[in-house]
Amino acid sequence: MLKWLSGASDRLNSWLNNGDDNEPTSPQIIPRDQHNISRKHISKAALNVIAGLRKGGYQGFLVGGGVRDLLLAGRPKDFDVATDATPEQIVSLFRGARIIGRRFKIVHVRFGREVIEVTTFRSNHEPKPIELGRPGNKKSVQSESGMLLRDNVFGTVEDDAIRRDFTINALYYTTADFAIYDYTGGIYDLHHKIIRIIGDPETRYREDPVRMLRAARFAAKLNFTIEPETAAPIAKLASTLRDIPAARLFDESLKLLMSGQGLATYYQLKEYGLFEQLFPETGEVLTPDNIFAEQLITNALKNTDKRINQGKPVTPAFIFAAMLWPAVQRRHLELMADRIPEVPALHQASQEIVSRQQQHTAIPKRFGIPMREIWDLQLRLPRRSSRRAESMLENRRFRAAYDFLLLREEAGEDTGGLGQWWTDYQNHNGDQRDNMIRSLRPPANNSRRSTRKRKTD
Ligand code: ATP
Ligand code: MG
Repeated sequence: MLKWLSGASDRLNSWLNNGDDNEPTSPQIIPRDQHNISRKHISKAALNVIAGLRKGGYQGFLVGGGVRDLLLAGRPKDFDVATDATPEQIVSLFRGARIIGRRFKIVHVRFGREVIEVTTFRSNHEPKPIELGRPGNKKSVQSESGMLLRDNVFGTVEDDAIRRDFTINALYYTTADFAIYDYTGGIYDLHHKIIRIIGDPETRYREDPVRMLRAARFAAKLNFTIEPETAAPIAKLASTLRDIPAARLFDESLKLLMSGQGLATYYQLKEYGLFEQLFPETGEVLTPDNIFAEQLITNALKNTDKRINQGKPVTPAFIFAAMLWPAVQRRHLELMADRIPEVPALHQASQEIVSRQQQHTAIPKRFGIPMREIWDLQLRLPRRSSRRAESMLENRRFRAAYDFLLLREEAGEDTGGLGQWWTDYQNHNGDQRDNMIRSLRPPANNSRRSTRKRKTD
């Protein structure tokens, strides 16, 4: 069955010597005794899918991050499988399988709690209309700017390899012979810690601008270098990210900021001019003299990375609250300078910044609402009558709001020791808490009264 792959195992050295040759030829084959991937490290579900495909007479390969991370002795986030079976054929093989997506048909196969993403080999070659039977109904469609809008032309594993984004993501492993198949020089790049796009960089970014974000993400995650030709067009093409649907960019931004290497990724994004495409409002505020904004964002990312690496939960609401706060705060100050009272000014500032941000990364309501609550509570934390302080502790966003307050302080904002006050308040019992409230002089809710008074003046 694997005849099309045979006779190439002696190419290892020539590949290693010509690692920048992206032209697909026969693959370099790394036999089982020359790599460190073993079935032990692969999820049962992925092995089941490959076995099921092979039993059905199809090819089944592990591909993408699974192979890459195993070769780097890391723990893959998920396992993806590629096959020559069509989506319909895959579905007929597995009970827990269903096709998702229409523009890019893929199949999810469920085994217990695990879902394996199975894709049919994609090809660049459009079948001739006569083969397709329906001229005009192209299975692969590009926009005027070269962006791939639809992509359901199927091909061989070799076709599939050159359609992938980076050489290190285009390595195939199969339990047919336990070898790794490398069509693009991915093994060379993996050894040399290089992120190299497959094919002509500009064309590939125009097809899918998200690949620029992925280059930055993998460089940060793996501590690799983006190869110069792969990096060169990014600055020029960064603005093409504006053509990507905001919902997709939101998903990408979570992968960028919440995968445990958020800080390193942020620096990569900034270096290549990508950050301001994702967060233009924040980008504007991040001027060299605004040390607070930079500190707030980098501290938030540092804390998030730490929590993720300790296995603690993190929420996009908090990280987005931090990413947008410098912009919200600037607008808040402007509105207050226009004599709008503090609370409505914050509401208006949040509203304006969020609705502009939504055009770039569509923040789902389940994160957008708590994000705004975290901001709102920043104005309520200073108001500490005993009733208010107690009910604040009961507020379901108190913890996030308190952490956010500490973050602002760490970034250099002067809140008059409010963070420490709340730390002590939580650690104290009833009487001590009463004392803390009594010793607040002048009463902290004065500012609100004076605001009200001003309004009636
Ligand atoms: P990780 O899951 O660790 O983030 P990954 O490489 O597995 O990394 P996925 O988004 O899971 O990334 O994608 C799986 C594979 O699909 C990639 O390794 C790559 O081969 C291919 N791929 C994903 N996105 C693109 C893209 N935009 N263009 C071309 N190929 C892509
Ligand atoms: Mg993956």
